[in-house]
Amino acid sequence: MDKVALKRKLLDAVEARADDIIAAGDWIWCNPEAGFKEYKTADYTTGIFRDLGLEVEENIGLTGVQAKINGRDDRPNIAVIGELDALLIPEHPESDPDTGAVHSCGHNGQMANMIGVAMALVDSGVMEHLDGSVTCMAVPAEEPIEIEWRRELYDEGKLFFLGGKQEFIKDGYFDDVDISLANHMATNTEWKIAVRGGEGPQPGGVGFMGKMISFKGAEAHSGAAPWNGVNALNAANIAMSAIDAQRDTFKDTDAVRVHYFITKGGDAVNIVPSEVRLEMMIRAASVEAIKDASMKVDRALRGGAIALGAEVEISNIPGYLPSQMQGSDTLWRNMRDNAFEIFDEEDLVVGTADPSPIRTPHGAVSDINDVANIMPKASFGVGGATGVGHSRSYSIVDKYVAYVMPVKLYAGMVFDLLWDGAKLARQVTEEYEPQVTKSGYMAYWKDILEG
Ligand SMILES: [Zn+2]
Ligand SMILES: [Zn+2]
Repeated sequence: MDKVALKRKLLDAVEARADDIIAAGDWIWCNPEAGFKEYKTADYTTGIFRDLGLEVEENIGLTGVQAKINGRDDRPNIAVIGELDALLIPEHPESDPDTGAVHSCGHNGQMANMIGVAMALVDSGVMEHLDGSVTCMAVPAEEPIEIEWRRELYDEGKLFFLGGKQEFIKDGYFDDVDISLANHMATNTEWKIAVRGGEGPQPGGVGFMGKMISFKGAEAHSGAAPWNGVNALNAANIAMSAIDAQRDTFKDTDAVRVHYFITKGGDAVNIVPSEVRLEMMIRAASVEAIKDASMKVDRALRGGAIALGAEVEISNIPGYLPSQMQGSDTLWRNMRDNAFEIFDEEDLVVGTADPSPIRTPHGAVSDINDVANIMPKASFGVGGATGVGHSRSYSIVDKYVAYVMPVKLYAGMVFDLLWDGAKLARQVTEEYEPQVTKSGYMAYWKDILEG
């Protein structure tokens, strides 16, 4: 069979599975679970992979699952990534009544997409004509939430990172992956698929590090003898003002954001607060800017403690790396060309979303950035949802767009990358220069955390 006919067969296999793919998206929407707790979703995915006759690796990064679909060669190996986790928004009308979890970031769509790729590759039998393999990955915990709980897992030695993809990297599950493909749903019904980016360097996303901070003072009667206490809340207050005083030292182009909240403000209103705890994120567009902001924040925190004669304990937590580059123009062009080949032009947006001359990095964070630092990665935007992401108003309104269409784009790309001796995949990997090598990844993070 020639290339065109075989690729058609693969895309037809996606269409033939449309109902099953939508059913998967619906099932996961109805069974939302927060990061590193996605046991039901992982079991569900494992069941589908096994029904397809695939061998499944389970419990990767606690709850992750993956299945490799072999072609004529083991490598190049393309990962198609779906995120398992939901958010916690109890106010959402369709959130889980017990946990408050809901897929208000649309990760159930990514999971349906990834599952659809496995279905279509197996059903169509195209892998026996392709020179490489595809790994379908269900990764835990993209959303950096419930940090205190995740720190307990860290203390128990069960995790090092907050994000599931990072745990996959740490444990070597990306070692035999050459290219990663991902997507994310947007809240938009005007277009259906967005192929952002372009030729040459592109603005990436910011990265971050976390901090857990504890000010320790001494309790005393707030009315009768406050002079016997050391007010940890006042120390934190001075520290927060001192952090604010640093803000005009952050360069606009570094896109630094320092934000925090008080997780413990004291014990009782009539007791001088003896312990105050803060959780903090420092975001920026480069590792250097994160380290610089972290140093200034630490200075401010210590300043608050010194002023009151309190103590401060700061523990730095790995966040996600900034992604500073597109990685591979060839991969981007293939994504764009497939989008034009498979979909109607009026359903697409292609190119940069930001026409301003200074294009700022995206202010949200994702651990897909860590993957993009070590290997070529392409991701695209998906429509079909409305409301505000990460809020009670989020809902998926066009299931075909959200769940089925992205499968076709993945399938088209995987096919092209691995066709004819996997020439295209090899070109992509040869062009790519990692920011960090896979083997140097842990040391790179440890250096950020130690400042
Ligand atoms: Zn999100
Ligand atoms: Zn998300």
